[in-house]
Amino acid sequence: MRQHPSRHAICPSCGTEFGYDDFSTTHRALRNEWLRAGAPWFSASTNPPSIFWDGFRQVIEAGLECDVAAPPSKIEIVPIKVSGVVNPSMGLVAS
Ligand SMILES: [Zn+2]
Repeated sequence: MRQHPSRHAICPSCGTEFGYDDFSTTHRALRNEWLRAGAPWFSASTNPPSIFWDGFRQVIEAGLECDVAAPPSKIEIVPIKVSGVVNPSMGLVAS
């Protein structure tokens, strides 16, 4: 959450209800539990801020401590094979 959460505000990302879920559990423990579950977006009424939203990245960028390693990227970068001839004036020309 961007602002300091007020009592009983529910985080749209992880679903933590402040003042309730964190009554007897630390934020770090709650965060770890959420990350172990794959950091799913919680809110059914609001969408993540981006289609590229990633819970692990959000935690890292916010500088929050956690004990769960991020999984390998879900987006695989596959090199494409290009065959052709490079023509200095035209760039790549397919062969
Ligand atoms: Zn949260």
